Amino acid sequence: MVSAVLQTSFLGDMVLTTPLLERLAGEGLVHVVATPANAALLANHPAVASVIVFDKRGADGGLGGLRRVAKRLRAVGAQRAYLAQGSSRTAALAWLAGIPERIGFATSGGRLFTTRRVPYDRTLHHAARLWQLANPPGAPTAPAALRPSLYPGAAEHEAMSRLLQAYGVRDDEPLVALAPGSVWATKRWPSYDQLAAELLESPALRDARIVVLGAAGDAPLAQAIGAAVAGTGGAPAVDATGQLSLLGSAALLSRCRVLVSNDSAPLHLASAMNTPTVALFGPTVPALGFGPLAERQSVVQHDALACRPCHAHGPVHCPLGHWRCMRDLPPQQVSEAVQRLIA
Ligand code: SF4
Repeated sequence: MVSAVLQTSFLGDMVLTTPLLERLAGEGLVHVVATPANAALLANHPAVASVIVFDKRGADGGLGGLRRVAKRLRAVGAQRAYLAQGSSRTAALAWLAGIPERIGFATSGGRLFTTRRVPYDRTLHHAARLWQLANPPGAPTAPAALRPSLYPGAAEHEAMSRLLQAYGVRDDEPLVALAPGSVWATKRWPSYDQLAAELLESPALRDARIVVLGAAGDAPLAQAIGAAVAGTGGAPAVDATGQLSLLGSAALLSRCRVLVSNDSAPLHLASAMNTPTVALFGPTVPALGFGPLAERQSVVQHDALACRPCHAHGPVHCPLGHWRCMRDLPPQQVSEAVQRLIA
């Protein structure tokens, strides 16, 4: 069986699609349609035969682009397409490519292009929901423990080593990763700088090095954390924002003892590298299906706020104006969660 998996959604969704890819690879070749950013994540992945890049918001926009990518997809000869996201445009791509069986979620905007519809089970983790796409009707449900997987290569490990060497990090130095960014402003916990100081003042992490992960746009957040670390007299924080590729960040996470992250992409990279994770949830909740999947993980959230969750991703502004879901998470509580996890 030759399969095509179409996943053109966010980075985290692509990471959470990897258990489905691994399952399908047991039955034959798996080709993946991905956005340019997501395609890079799949480099070296043993379950993936090839990646077809679909730059739907750029070079492949419009009907001409759709036809071009459909032609490339048709060439791989897939008998089955798995539509791992709701986009009707991407679903149309599988239809245009002439793939005879097209399986997608019953709630998907592209369901008109499917030949089989799978219920979107809101009680499951999203990795399990995606895995269910490959389940024939009546088959057992997804296993309880589904862990995503990524494979940083030699180039990514070398880039990580160069960055750490530039900061004089010793090979045996414990690293604590903080990922303060998020595309959605209300998901950015505002107290990472205080947390960094709190962690370095704790007996268990006095010798640890803080590493800040994120995109280039997160540099101001990294600078605030760096200033807080300098205030403790600790070794300079490693600012990895914008310095590494996504797989390079995954390589760095594999070297870290723990990650503290908002509900955003680094959390899923850490799940794939099985890095212990403390996840901070504000306007969203893990029950939406995007919680951490590392073996050792912990969620810190405001359990008593009736307004949570208020949005599938996180609103631009708090609709109530107080943003208590994030403001009221004390650094001390997060620090205690970190220390429990690494104990
Ligand atoms: S409404 Fe509640 S959950 Fe939503 S952003 Fe505001 S405080 Fe957070």
